[in-house]
Amino acid sequence: MSLLFSLAGKVAIVTGASRGIGFALADGMAAAGATVIAIARSLQPRVPFSTPVEYISADVSSEIGPLFTSIAQVHRRIDILVNAAGISLPGAPQDAAQRANFERSLQVNLISPFACCLAARPHMPPGSSIINVTSIGSIVGLPDNPGYAAAKGGLRMLTKGLAVDYGTAGIRVNALAPGYIHTDMTAKSFADPALNAQRRRHTCLDRWGTVDDLLGAAIFLASNASAYVTGHDLIVDGGWIAKGLV
Ligand code: NAP
Repeated sequence: MSLLFSLAGKVAIVTGASRGIGFALADGMAAAGATVIAIARSLQPRVPFSTPVEYISADVSSEIGPLFTSIAQVHRRIDILVNAAGISLPGAPQDAAQRANFERSLQVNLISPFACCLAARPHMPPGSSIINVTSIGSIVGLPDNPGYAAAKGGLRMLTKGLAVDYGTAGIRVNALAPGYIHTDMTAKSFADPALNAQRRRHTCLDRWGTVDDLLGAAIFLASNASAYVTGHDLIVDGGWIAKGLV
């Protein structure tokens, strides 16, 4: 059973891995045996990884192809790509920055993951796995963040489109959709007692998620345990989407 979920011998790139969800997935995949290359803009991760991880400072919204090519030259292959880099730029409908925020959100949350897929694909052998970190906001409408909704909804459908396009090459493409996870991105609502309680009560499990709650699902999607799973949305939200009346 442990072999089924092992990432030993696999080379993984995780974007958005200086902190938060990407950091936890990079750290956890390294612990599961993968050689992990973690990417984010910060010069270094906020805290050290618990298992050796190669960290590269880079902006996924810039030209990413040469970096992926050099990683593939060094490591000979890319077996796993986790697109976790993301931003949330909320603002009310009358906010003057809405148009600019919308475009930036599409760039980082949708176009950049696609660029990373394009850059990784030529180096991915059969059996490889791409995991796009979407959101419950890719499935239902959430207020005051149209760029995030459009980008994450687009990323959910990009996942299915690429699952079709890459399937015959043996490359699987899935989405991992977190609910409310306590990170920098949600720090404001987590700190607000009313919003915190509202988000907690909407889950079936009556709690916020932690970054570690996502690791099992990510390792499942990355490993041979999910060898026949592609084009799937794996929702990890404590039942947030499942719940009707709050
Ligand atoms: P976070 O704590 O703000 O972390 C975001 C990560 O993305 C950081 O490592 C950041 O690093 C990196 N990043 C942002 N822009 C980047 C860029 N242009 N190039 C490279 N790296 C970039 O947020 P998080 O909660 O961990 O979110 C991670 C992913 O999960 C995002 O895609 C987010 O949309 C998704 N998500 C989060 C939640 C939640 O409740 N937290 C729920 C659903 C989905 P640098 O600043 O160092 O670049």
